[in-house]
Amino acid sequence: MSEHDAVRACPACGGGPLVAWRTVPGSDPALPGDYALARCPACGSAVTLAGVPAAAHEEGAYGGGAPRGAGLAAPLLRAFDRRRLTFLARAGGRPPGRLLDVGAGRGRFVAQARAAGWAADGIEPSLRGVAGARTLGIELQQAGIDEAAVPPGSLDAATLWHVLEHLDDPGAALDRIAGWLRPGGLLVIGVPNLGSVQARAGGARWFHLDVPRHRTHFTVAGVHALLRRHGLEPVSTHHLLAEHNPFGLWQSVVSRATRTPSWLYHALKRNAPVRSRDALVTVAALVLVPVAVAAELAFALTRRGGTVAVVARRV
Ligand SMILES: [Zn+2]
Repeated sequence: MSEHDAVRACPACGGGPLVAWRTVPGSDPALPGDYALARCPACGSAVTLAGVPAAAHEEGAYGGGAPRGAGLAAPLLRAFDRRRLTFLARAGGRPPGRLLDVGAGRGRFVAQARAAGWAADGIEPSLRGVAGARTLGIELQQAGIDEAAVPPGSLDAATLWHVLEHLDDPGAALDRIAGWLRPGGLLVIGVPNLGSVQARAGGARWFHLDVPRHRTHFTVAGVHALLRRHGLEPVSTHHLLAEHNPFGLWQSVVSRATRTPSWLYHALKRNAPVRSRDALVTVAALVLVPVAVAAELAFALTRRGGTVAVVARRV
């Protein structure tokens, strides 16, 4: 996509034209440079104008290998996965039924959904993810959304967890997925919320900006409009997400004082030097963690959480 194509219309709501907004530094030490963003005057969503380097999803924080502290995080990650299942359950999506995790990573959520009684499968474009899932006894279909083989109308539920923001054409992806769902089937989407308090507080260094990998930076209005344009009616929107929100707020604030953007995140991903001035700043800022937890709770109540989960029903 050229910059001129990108500025025509908003990929979320279809409105526009997009207008120049701000230039932000690459969010990953492995992807330096400045990236121009344009914003939609109608829904407030934004897009990253420059293309994404071909290997961006294999480099830096996405480089693979076990993060530091992975063992400690495992029970927490399982709890986050169960919460995603409760969003489905509250909208009437309960096992048994066929569920597809789209962009399944290493298959952790597929395993959790199977344990809960779903007939769950996943598609994942990266060989690394497919190989990782095999160690859990899960065979993912190695495919992107545009090439995956899924029978039309075959799914009771699909999940798209922090995937949509990585796609240059999110509408085309939703068209495909809506076609895989039976009428009345449910889709759960997780995306960063550009309309959040932490997006504003973090500015160009907002943790969930992840430029240039994130192509569209959605607001809730943008996600809702996008879903409706592709035959999916939003039924619930959740702002209280312990998985991403307190850390995103804390890391965004601390990033204002570190040289490396999101230093702790990148250090855990073995993507930033551990012995550094940034480490001292980060340790000092740990006292702010409870403040970030309480603040995101308050922001969720005012529906301005750092990331959101939206459940939609295929009409
Ligand atoms: Zn828009």
